[in-house]
Amino acid sequence: MNDLSNCVFCRIVAGSEPASVIFEDDRLIAFMGIRPIRPGECMVIPKRHIDHFTDIDDETSQRIILVAQHIGRRIREVFKPQRVGMIVHGYGVPHAHLILVPQHDPYDITSARLAYLENGGISFGMKNLPFTDRVILDKHAQLLRIDNGSIR
Ligand SMILES: [Zn+2]
Repeated sequence: MNDLSNCVFCRIVAGSEPASVIFEDDRLIAFMGIRPIRPGECMVIPKRHIDHFTDIDDETSQRIILVAQHIGRRIREVFKPQRVGMIVHGYGVPHAHLILVPQHDPYDITSARLAYLENGGISFGMKNLPFTDRVILDKHAQLLRIDNGSIR
C-alpha cells in the first residue's frame, strides 16, 4: 500500500509531488533525479511502494530493466556519455529505484562527486551536489522520452 505521507516517490506516483516524467505505465514510472551526479541522471521505480528492489515481483522487475534499457539508449544519444551506468544501492528514499547515470568518467558511477574533505578526512554525501532547476529537468525528461509503443 502506498504511504503518501512518508514516501516522496509514492507522492510522485500519486501526482502530489512534482517530477519530470520520462515514461509511465500501469506498473512503473521513470523520472529525472533532482540532484544528478551528471545531467541526464534519472530513475525507474515501481509504482507500488516496495522498499527492497529484490522484493519486486519478476514481471515488474523485468519491465523496469526493459524501460531502463530504452531510456539508456536515449541517454547515449542525447547526453553522449562514455557509458550509461545503472545502480540499485537501496539508500536514500526507501522505495525501490534503479538509477541511470550518464558516465563521463569511470568515477561517476562510484559518485566521486559526493566526496568532500571534512575534519581531515574524506566524507561522502550530497551536500555539494546542487539541485537542478525544474525547467531544465523538464527539458531533459522531454529529450529522453521514449515511445510507449516501442515497449511491449
Ligand atoms: Zn513509496
